[in-house]
Amino acid sequence: MPPEKKLMQESRKIAVIGSGLVGSLLAIYLRKRGHEVTIFDRRPDVRTVEFSGRSINLAMSNRGWKALRKVGIEERIREIALPLDKRAMHVNDRPVYFQKYGKEGEAIYSISRGVLNRRMIDLAEEAGAIFRFEEKVWDIDLPGAKIYTGEDEKSTWKEYQYDHVFGADGAFSRVRHKMQRQSRFNYSQHFIDVGYKELTIPANEDGSHKMDNASFHIWPRGEFMLIAMPNIDGSFTCTLFLPFEGPVSFESLTTEKEADAFFEKYFPDIKEEISNLKKDFFRNPTSAMVTMKCYPWTFEDKVALVGDSAHAIVPFYGQGMNAGFEDISVLDDLMENYGDDWSKIFEEYQVQRKPNADAIAELSYRNFIEMSNKTASPDFLLRKKIEGRFSEKFPEKWIPLYSRVTFSDKPYAEALAIGDKQRAIMDEVMALENIDEKWDSPEVQDFILQKLKA
Ligand SMILES: Cc1cc2nc3c(=O)[nH]c(=O)nc-3n(C[C@H](O)[C@H](O)[C@H](O)COP(=O)(O)OP(=O)(O)OC[C@H]3O[C@@H](n4cnc5c(N)ncnc54)[C@H](O)[C@@H]3O)c2cc1C
Repeated sequence: MPPEKKLMQESRKIAVIGSGLVGSLLAIYLRKRGHEVTIFDRRPDVRTVEFSGRSINLAMSNRGWKALRKVGIEERIREIALPLDKRAMHVNDRPVYFQKYGKEGEAIYSISRGVLNRRMIDLAEEAGAIFRFEEKVWDIDLPGAKIYTGEDEKSTWKEYQYDHVFGADGAFSRVRHKMQRQSRFNYSQHFIDVGYKELTIPANEDGSHKMDNASFHIWPRGEFMLIAMPNIDGSFTCTLFLPFEGPVSFESLTTEKEADAFFEKYFPDIKEEISNLKKDFFRNPTSAMVTMKCYPWTFEDKVALVGDSAHAIVPFYGQGMNAGFEDISVLDDLMENYGDDWSKIFEEYQVQRKPNADAIAELSYRNFIEMSNKTASPDFLLRKKIEGRFSEKFPEKWIPLYSRVTFSDKPYAEALAIGDKQRAIMDEVMALENIDEKWDSPEVQDFILQKLKA
């Protein structure tokens, strides 16, 4: 058990590798605890690079907000976020319909990754962190907490020495790469056979949005889907998720004519709104998605991995950044509890976080299947309706899995375990005779109550 009393920390010299979302947040936390913090990034400062204001949109939910609130920057981020309280389902041959995400007042928040990253770097700088952009880390001496940077692999490297080094350098982390060379270091990566491409729906001339801007829009089409999230400038960022290979795939769409016919057939209601469709389709990259797992996440009391470098996941639960932000608030709790005992902080951090990272990886993968296939099926909708009604009547007995992941800060591993139990009960409910007629009856609710007791 952690000691009761709160411990002050002695100021340490700390390097954070990576000025992405998680590295910047970590720097703010470390500065607030009085540490000397330098952040290295191989990229130029994103604030100085010409930027259209559009990029991948991220959904910020409860865990992300909690981590921002704890370090006093929540309001600065809320200014650049749009609340989405429901899914807007675009199913061919029927009008758009809506599915609430949670209870009244519960929403996920759409934020442009580029805008957010710029703001986080500003905030880290305000907190006193030093940034060294365009300085790529090539190697790291783990026991010595030394890092080596330079132009390229063969140039003369600069050496820096720190008390602690954090790898916040993303899914293809160099810091992790070095840790992988140790004996008994576990590592796996799994690419899914679906890729994604960004497209844009511009704002109306008066700057307003072309569709409802309080919804996460989904066009589920079985093996593939299109999603759209609003930006504060009135535009939407769309993401097309499509298999790399196969009859309907990125590989099968090689000419403008083919791309045009594809959108005409599967997304006729939105085709005209997506500007420069053909140009963007062939100009924007097709990107891959990976689940990456490893362990341990730390080396002695010297080096620790945070965010995607420790646990990259597929984006279908909208939790990658949220999970990375949660890493940082957990680390901060441990610093509070264990003071200068960095061995204990690092050990407890990885023991606490690893099962939760594995659980959100699994849930994200499952949601990939659910979002593309099931969100439009009548069975799925009935299931959600029964669950929703039961949880409204017995809120203390049933929190739907999505809410447990998105609107709570209960451990992901707990959400996965309870979600599996709920799913087994719902499988039995759906097998009841005439369930589509009696779904809202006391009989069905009693059945669930009995199952929960068992
Ligand atoms: C399509 C898509 C949609 C997503 N949607 C969501 C969502 O809705 N909600 C959500 O919570 N998450 C989402 N995510 C996940 C989220 O983007 C990531 O989890 C998050 O960006 C991870 O942040 P990070 O700081 O760990 O890594 P990164 O953002 O990858 O940052 C790593 C940084 O390290 C730097 N770097 C790398 N190597 C070196 C080196 N050798 N030396 C120096 N610097 C280096 C890089 O330049 C970069 O700045 C999504 C991801 C994708 C791909």
